[in-house]
Amino acid sequence: MSRRTLQITPPVYDYLLDVSLREPEAMRKLREATLAHPFANMQTAPEQAQFMAMLIRLTGARRALEIGTFTGYSALAVALALPEEGRLIACDVNADWVAMGQPFWQEAGVAGKIDLRIAPALETLQQLMAEKRHGEFDFAFIDADKQNYIPYFEACMQLIRPGGLIAVDNVLWDGKVADESVTDPTTRAIRRFNDAISQRNDIELSMIPIGDGVTLARKIPM
Ligand code: SAM
Ligand code: CA
Repeated sequence: MSRRTLQITPPVYDYLLDVSLREPEAMRKLREATLAHPFANMQTAPEQAQFMAMLIRLTGARRALEIGTFTGYSALAVALALPEEGRLIACDVNADWVAMGQPFWQEAGVAGKIDLRIAPALETLQQLMAEKRHGEFDFAFIDADKQNYIPYFEACMQLIRPGGLIAVDNVLWDGKVADESVTDPTTRAIRRFNDAISQRNDIELSMIPIGDGVTLARKIPM
């Protein structure tokens, strides 16, 4: 027994999946279809997607934002967890990648819940703010270009309601954030983001070592 978070060895990881993963059929098919993609490793891990789906249901989220959709695996998990009238605005710049996943959104019967916006996500977020949709969203998942994590987070803080939840992906960046010898621009951007939000007193914070590390930030009602 230990008070530290367990190191997940490959056998422990396989065990975790064996005894707890309940992946819907369309999600499994989408994940398998993405395996052939040269950037398949960008896809959210299945146990993380399942965890996010539970967060959606626990919080009763109805309006969600996703920044970084790729082939649509995390979007599918979120859309399946939203209630019938729920909506997800999914942001990406690459329509071809998203198109790979759209047939599986259809198969799962949730394509109508996903409002896809193909444009730089900062533009989409600025447009939502111009439409005065502040406080309209219950949940946001930030998983696009890491250099923009700070402005994405700032925009999400405006668009999320008090008490709403922002999940930010890849915050441990394969452990590189904790290795001072690593100084590439992406690692530095994630460190800057982690440092910046660790100082904020308008959120409750929890960094979860699932997948590549997910930070959960709950906007404190003021
Ligand atoms: N959440 C996805 C999943 O579970 O499969 C993975 C997202 S992947 C890590 C990052 C995505 O961000 C890519 O599909 C990329 O096209 C997109 N992206 C990169 N820069 C962007 C930008 N400025 N605006 C919107 N999307 C962007
Ligand atoms: Ca990610």
